[in-house]
Amino acid sequence: MSADYYDVLGVSRDATPEEIKKAYRKLAMKYHPDVADAPDAAEKFKEIGEAYEVLHDPNKRAMYDRGGNPMGGGGGFPGGSYGFSSGGFDFTNLVDAMFGAQAPRGPKSRVQPGRDSLVRVNLTLAEAAFGITKEIKVDTAVICPKCSGSGAQAGSEPVTCGTCHGAGEVVAVQRSFLGEIRTSQPCPTCRGYGTVIPEPCGECSGEGRVRTHRTINVKIPAGVDTGNRVQLAHQGEVGPGGGPAGDLYVELKVAQHEVFQRNGDDLEMMVHVPMTAAALGTVVNLATLEAERDDQDLEAAEVEVQIPAGTQSHARIAVAGRGVPRLRGGGRGNLGITFVVDTPTKLDAAQRDLLEQFASARNETAPKVSIAKQGKGMFGWLKEAFS
Ligand SMILES: [Zn+2]
Ligand SMILES: [Zn+2]
Repeated sequence: MSADYYDVLGVSRDATPEEIKKAYRKLAMKYHPDVADAPDAAEKFKEIGEAYEVLHDPNKRAMYDRGGNPMGGGGGFPGGSYGFSSGGFDFTNLVDAMFGAQAPRGPKSRVQPGRDSLVRVNLTLAEAAFGITKEIKVDTAVICPKCSGSGAQAGSEPVTCGTCHGAGEVVAVQRSFLGEIRTSQPCPTCRGYGTVIPEPCGECSGEGRVRTHRTINVKIPAGVDTGNRVQLAHQGEVGPGGGPAGDLYVELKVAQHEVFQRNGDDLEMMVHVPMTAAALGTVVNLATLEAERDDQDLEAAEVEVQIPAGTQSHARIAVAGRGVPRLRGGGRGNLGITFVVDTPTKLDAAQRDLLEQFASARNETAPKVSIAKQGKGMFGWLKEAFS
């Protein structure tokens, strides 16, 4: 388990819920990735979020005090601040702690949590297999640098709305034959906020956030496949009023490779072998997918393959541990090599003569052909090779 949650928030073990909330709010504002420059801010931010998640909930706190782990196993990759699951951290806590839970009535906060965003990234098979750090550009919303999210011009402040007097809603009275019907609606002047900004910030027009392009380095772990998503916590859009950012999801698509075909954690390839080599046996060196790796290890870039004498067309051998690294659990799949035995073509007279002598030595000048049985034969192989 990580650091002591009480230490993380800097509160005593008998701190009241109010003290915990206050400590969290202070730290969250200090370490929020949009304002903090420290390189470990994101990690720290996640840690305090986790501590608050547990300590503000009486049940989880009691469980933690007894030595349990209320966060459970959690998802995500070891050592990374990203994962395919959120790891149980509920971001709404931050909004609640900073701005108060959203009451069903009364003025609504100008500060709203930002949306999650999704970007798609194309990878080569080698990048997916061995992992890579990709630089991606996202079109996103960030906190307004001019007003820091308040939406008001420097020196000015939002003022109480004159129409609803801060209530955020107005009551409309309609008379009908049933009597008076009173309905409350969001105030049209302040759009329900209870305040108006008399001098909106020139940069963001009062939105508290501006659109921009950002470049993010995304660490893609080894072994990913098409459809996998990498989650980057709090790298999505900043919300209205400079509200906390949503998450950014990076969805991966792996391109077809012209040699290797992926089958789960295994890689499959097909190799043409001349008839004579298949009959007599030989040893060949084959380039593996590793040859396309950035940090390529020359030892691993080739594999020595023994082709035994008498190898049949469509025979397959598996080289252990030369497939794709497993995303979870470690280890690697196998490299499957299927041989295709090539019959010689364009024989000259001397070669033809030699083959005829060969056929006669084997009593194959008038050969009988035999009918292959269904099952693991030709069709089974075809299905395997091209599915
Ligand atoms: Zn602004
Ligand atoms: Zn109003």
